[in-house]
Amino acid sequence: MSNERSAERVYIALGSNEAQGGDAPAAIVESAIERLAAVGTVARRSQLFASRAWPDPSGPTYVNAAAQIETDLPPQALLARLLEIENAFGRVRRARWAARTLDLDILDYAGRVGSFPQSGEGPPLTLPHPRMSRRLFVLRPLADIAPDWMRPKDGRAIADLIAEAEPETEAWPLS
Ligand code: ATP
Ligand code: CA
Ligand code: CA
Repeated sequence: MSNERSAERVYIALGSNEAQGGDAPAAIVESAIERLAAVGTVARRSQLFASRAWPDPSGPTYVNAAAQIETDLPPQALLARLLEIENAFGRVRRARWAARTLDLDILDYAGRVGSFPQSGEGPPLTLPHPRMSRRLFVLRPLADIAPDWMRPKDGRAIADLIAEAEPETEAWPLS
């Protein structure tokens, strides 16, 4: 008999539009995907995408990706660890949606729906990520690794969400 807890399937969005040291955003996102091994098993990862800065398109271009991990960490403990990884990559929180070296968002944690307040277990967390559905720079990478994904709260298919998302949030494969 195994004492291991069963791992939960989690989808994470990665984004970067600011260099750190000598590393450009694409290199940061690649390293961050490797670093996700510290919080679980990385089962899938998308290709890299590029998108215009949002909501202010005059900002530096973003590199985006998504990853699927299997983890034993509960949701808020996972988020706390992801925020630590952001810090390790030089993330500084300035104004909302300002340029950042690394952003890690939990899109979907095992289909769970709900809000967790700040607690001893970790930072505030809302599942699924409340703003993901209108963002093509999140949905395109997610569709790359999970084309059959459905939004947990209502079962909407990712293809339908993509069709309805805001065109100015578009993302293109980085070649
Ligand atoms: P947005 O949330 O619109 O993508 P952002 O990623 O720039 O904006 P941050 O400053 O990175 O926002 O995060 C602010 C806080 O959001 C985090 O400290 C975290 O506690 C909270 N948060 C709530 N739900 C989530 C989630 N699903 N994934 C990541 N962070 C979340
Ligand atoms: Ca974000
Ligand atoms: Ca974030």
